[in-house]
Order: sequence, then structure tokens, then C-alpha cells
Amino acid sequence: MTGIVVLGSTNMDLVTYTARAPKLGETVTGREFVTVPGGKGANQAVAAARAGGAVAMIGAVGSDDFGTVLRHTLEASCVDTDLLRTAEGSSGTAHIVVDDDGGNAIVVVPGANGTVTDLGPGDEALITTADALLLQLELPLSAVIAGAEAARRHGVRTILTPAPAQPLPPELLAATDLLVPNEHEAAVLTGIADPHAAAGALLRQVPEVVITLGQAGSLHASRTTEPLLVPAPHVTAVDTTAAGDTFVGALAVALVEGRPLPEALRWASAAAALCVQRPGASTSMPYRTEIEAS
Ligand code: ADP
Repeated sequence: MTGIVVLGSTNMDLVTYTARAPKLGETVTGREFVTVPGGKGANQAVAAARAGGAVAMIGAVGSDDFGTVLRHTLEASCVDTDLLRTAEGSSGTAHIVVDDDGGNAIVVVPGANGTVTDLGPGDEALITTADALLLQLELPLSAVIAGAEAARRHGVRTILTPAPAQPLPPELLAATDLLVPNEHEAAVLTGIADPHAAAGALLRQVPEVVITLGQAGSLHASRTTEPLLVPAPHVTAVDTTAAGDTFVGALAVALVEGRPLPEALRWASAAAALCVQRPGASTSMPYRTEIEAS
């Protein structure tokens, strides 16, 4: 069994497609509306479970109908939700308007995610049993730090996706084993646009970094090894939503299985390449057999 715990967000994405977005005070008629279960935490949990990990999710859904759907979405991919709390009130939501030019405007309401300000009963005990803890920044920082520090106390590897991009507090960096930003997040964290130089700067704060570079692949850097650029497979991308979360989920599975790093990165790249060839977010994430066959 591959023990991965995800401490992170669950969101319902409410996506409206319209010719053009309304201005303040204006009403327009949209073309299509879809609800898509997401949240970076839930996405990484689904990606890791489909890639073959034994995954448990810590966080919170709301007591509304979205909460029921979000919980079931995780369970449908065999993610353990025993410690996923149900908080009184709304689930996390992302209100997304996409116009005909592909531009978007988004309002995220944390809802239940905002109630996760610390570890709850049983959370630290669960983290203790894990091989890796996956973290992102869509929960209150106090909970992310508490989770990372609990993992650190018990020798559990921490893998942090620093999204949404923001400066990181020193205590979180101190408890991070592997940081996985995309190019934009790496630039926000360091003020450096060049990924190689940004990786070098990040290594002063964490021991190991993977910067994802979209279709250009991913760059690994650590304090003890030479930088390694792993190209992404050449594929026709139709929807890159959740590519990064798929990459991290699959990478975590490969790492806790003890695979050598270059192989783990190729495995994660294969999983993300499958994801981008299909429309959707968590629905487009590949299963282990598909990754192995690709
Ligand atoms: P995010 O989704 O967080 O913005 P990236 O865009 O860097 O992150 O994508 C994450 C990973 O997904 C990349 O490192 C790569 O392996 C894969 N990926 C993204 N876009 C493509 C693409 N067009 N073709 C192949 N792989 C891709």
C-alpha cells in the first residue's frame, strides 16, 4: 500500500460560458453552465489514487448538496474520506465566467475550506501513518503549517504545491521536503523569471524542487544532485486544467514507491500528458493502467 495523505481544499467549480462577461450592474444571457468538482487538494487526491496510491483526504466540505457531491467524487476514485469534515454552511466554490475569447473571471469563496484553520482530531495520527503528505495553499495557512510540522515531527515526506502563488512563511519552508511550483509560482516566490535561476534560489530555502514548465516539461533540482530537465511527451493538448495537480499526484505515488527520481518524473509527465489530451479537470485524470500503457 502506498500511503499518501492530502491536506487540502475541495471546491465546486461553477463554470458559465458566455459570449462576453457582464459588466458590473449588467445582465447577459450565457450559453452553457457546468459544475465541476475540484479544489487543488481534491484534485491531487484523485490523481494520486488513480495513479495507484492509497490516499486519504483531510479538509472540509460544506453541509450543502455540493458537499455531498464533492465527498462522493473523492470516494468514487477510492480516496478515504473518513477525516474529511463536514462544516455547517457552504462548500468551497469557484465562480468562473469564460468568454468566447477564452478569457475568464473567477471569484473563489473558500466556504468550508476556510473552517480548516488547524489539524482536527485524528489528523496527526493519520499523517503519522503516511509515506507522504501533499499540501497546497487553498486552506488557511495555519492549517497548512500545522500539517507540514506534524509530518516533519514524524519523518513523513512533505510535498508542497505553492498555489495560489504567494510568499511562503519561513516555518512552512522549513517543514517542506519537496516544493513543486509551476513557472509562474516559482517566479512569484523568487522574483526570478528564469526557471534554472529560480530553482537555484529556492534551494536556499528547501532541499528539493521540481518546477513544472507546461509543455516544456519539468525541471528537478536538489542540493545534492545536478539539475535534471525532463521533457513532456509531445501530445495535442485540448484542456490543461489540473495538469499540475495530476503531475504532483502521480509524482507522489512514484516517489513513495521508491522509484528513482528520473523514472518518477517521467511517470508524472506521462500522467499529466494524458490529462491534457482530454477535456475536464479530475474527470480527465488517468488511471494507473493508462499511465503504464502510455
Ligand atoms: P499547472 O497546471 O500547475 O499550471 P504546468 O502548466 O507547468 O502546471 O503543467 C504541469 C505539467 O503538466 C507539466 O510539467 C507537463 O508535464 C504537463 N503538461 C502541461 N501542459 C502540457 C502539454 N501541452 N503537453 C504535455 N504535457 C503538458
